[in-house]
Amino acid sequence: MGAKSIAVLTSGGDAPGMNAAVRAVVRTGLYLGMRVIGIKRGYNGLLSGDTVEMNLRSVSDIIHRGGTVIYTARSPEFNTPEGVKKAADMCHKLDISGVVVIGGDGSFRGARDLTGAGIPCIGIPGTIDNDIASSEYTVGFDTAMNTVVEMVDRLRDTTESHDRCSVVEVMGRRCGELALQSGIAVGATSILVPEVPFDFQRDIVDRMKFTQKAGKRHFIIVVAEGVGGVEELGKRIKNETGIETRVTILGHVQRGGSPTLRDRLVASEMGYRAAKLLYEGNSNRVVVMQNGKIIDLDITEALNKKREFNMELYKIAHVISI
Ligand code: ADP
Repeated sequence: MGAKSIAVLTSGGDAPGMNAAVRAVVRTGLYLGMRVIGIKRGYNGLLSGDTVEMNLRSVSDIIHRGGTVIYTARSPEFNTPEGVKKAADMCHKLDISGVVVIGGDGSFRGARDLTGAGIPCIGIPGTIDNDIASSEYTVGFDTAMNTVVEMVDRLRDTTESHDRCSVVEVMGRRCGELALQSGIAVGATSILVPEVPFDFQRDIVDRMKFTQKAGKRHFIIVVAEGVGGVEELGKRIKNETGIETRVTILGHVQRGGSPTLRDRLVASEMGYRAAKLLYEGNSNRVVVMQNGKIIDLDITEALNKKREFNMELYKIAHVISI
C-alpha cells in the first residue's frame, strides 16, 4: 500500500473551487484511514513547516467559498534545488508520505521536482485560465467565465443606452480561452486572444462598420490580458469609427466568488481521485479531464504536452458575432 499520511497544498494563482478540492482530498484521505495535513501558503508552508492537522470538520462550510482556506503563494525559494531538498526534508520530519498539489503548470513542475526528491506528489489543475495542455478543464474556469459574463452583461446595459463601444480586458496572459468562451457568451463583436495575431482594420474597424450598416449600434470587444494595450485600442477605435468607446479592465474580480456547480463537482471528483492515487501508492501523476472523464497521467508527460488553441470555436465566434 501507499501513503499513510498525506498533505494538501494550493499553489500559484488562486481559483474558485480550490476549497472544494481541498475538502475532497481531506475527506477521502480520512475515509481511507490516512492522516491528512494541510500545508499553508503553497510550497512556502513546506519550507517553514506551517501546517495544520486536518479532521472531517476542518473542511466544513468551505465548498461554496472562493479563494483557498489554506492560502496560496508563489515560492521563489522552493524553485531551487536547495529549496526542493529542504521541502523534502520537512516532509520526512512531519511524517508526510505524499502531497496533493492544487495549482497550475508551475506548481506541477514543483510537484515533479518534489517527487524526484523522494516525496510522491499528485497534481490537480486549479486555475481560472484553463491553460493546462493535458486537461480540457481546470478548476475555477467555469466560475471565472460566469463572472465575466455577469460583468459584461452589466456593461452592455450602459453601452447600449449610450450607443457606445466597450472594450473589456479579461484575464489570460498566454491563454485566450477565457476571452474566447466568455466573448461568445456575451456576443462580442471582436475577440482578441494572444494565440491569434489580429489586424486592427480587418478584425475590429471593418467588423464594427459592417455590423453598423446592418443596424447594430453598440459594440463589445473582448480582449485577453496577454494581447495588451487596451487603453490605446480604445482610443484608436474612437478615432477610426467616431463611436464613443470606454475601456474596462475586469481585473481580480475574475478570481473571486462562490464556485459554480461545475467547479465544485469537478474539484470534488479530482480531489477524491488524487487522495486515492496516493493511497494506492502512485506518484508523479496529475489528475485531468479528457473527453469529459476524470483520469490521471504522468506529470512529466503532461508537462511536455503543447496546448492547442480551439481554432474551431474561434472561427464560429467570427461567423455568429456580427
Ligand atoms: P501556477 O502553478 O499557477 O502556474 P506559478 O508558475 O507561480 O503558478 O508556480 C507556483 C510555484 O510553483 C512557484 O512559486 C514555485 O515555487 C513552483 N514552481 C514554479 N515553476 C517551477 C519549476 N520550474 N520547478 C520547480 N518549482 C516550480
